[in-house]
Amino acid sequence: MARRRQIYEGKAKILYEGPEPGTLIQYFKDDATAFNAQKKGTISGKGVLNNRISEHIFTLLGHIGVPTHFIRRLNMREQLIRQVEIVPIEVVVRNVVAGSLSKRLGIEEGTQLPRTIIEYYYKDDALGDPMITDEHIACFGWASQEEMHDIADLAIRTNDFLCGLFAGVGIRLVDFKLEFGRIWDNDYGRIILADEISPDGCRLWDIESNEKLDKDRFRRDLGGEVEAYQEVARRLGLLPEGADAGAVLDLEKHRKRRGK
Ligand code: 5GP
Repeated sequence: MARRRQIYEGKAKILYEGPEPGTLIQYFKDDATAFNAQKKGTISGKGVLNNRISEHIFTLLGHIGVPTHFIRRLNMREQLIRQVEIVPIEVVVRNVVAGSLSKRLGIEEGTQLPRTIIEYYYKDDALGDPMITDEHIACFGWASQEEMHDIADLAIRTNDFLCGLFAGVGIRLVDFKLEFGRIWDNDYGRIILADEISPDGCRLWDIESNEKLDKDRFRRDLGGEVEAYQEVARRLGLLPEGADAGAVLDLEKHRKRRGK
């Protein structure tokens, strides 16, 4: 089979040319990085779980009218997506104090916020994704005022929906990162949700025990990363009840092991 053309390789995903114009294939790797790639590792099976979790969440968001780039899952590690022009802004939504917010302002992790906070970061690895405001976005033309209005609206709708979804399975949605893209209809640009939503870019705490079920297990050397991601998938009903670690069959790895 002819090799597909690789469009982009990021820290956790690869984008390949899709089967039709305007589509891409998003491949989920097991690679994990933290602290702007200063810490690197592999979480075996992560890509398979994130592909499935992100598919589930994007599909549900589509049902409530949040436009996303997701078209359909192709296999264990790949999904077909719409090609977008990525807006170079990471949108972080926070419900509870944690991570960089806790460090920056010296507020204890776990403090419930009286209202949801949206923060913007400029997507630039070389600069370490610096925090920015609407003023920078407007000044440097990274997105129009109208686009920022749509982005904030979609981020809040996504947060409201996800808070309920996770609360229903005993998980507190502490914070998460979103990315958006533009699609063009002739001269008319429209903002849609892009990238992924998975435990890689969310803080998910067990409501009862506050146990971390996300990438902080890797960032903070807590161990049990795969088990945590699997627990999220299991609670969302994406793994058969009572399934063990081997239940997420990674066919690609299996084939590689057999030398095929
Ligand atoms: P913080 O600013 O506290 O480090 O991160 C806030 C939230 O956004 C966390 O849920 C974190 O996982 C997510 N986040 C922020 N930047 C990135 C990033 O570059 N990659 C990923 N995967 N998640 C991020």
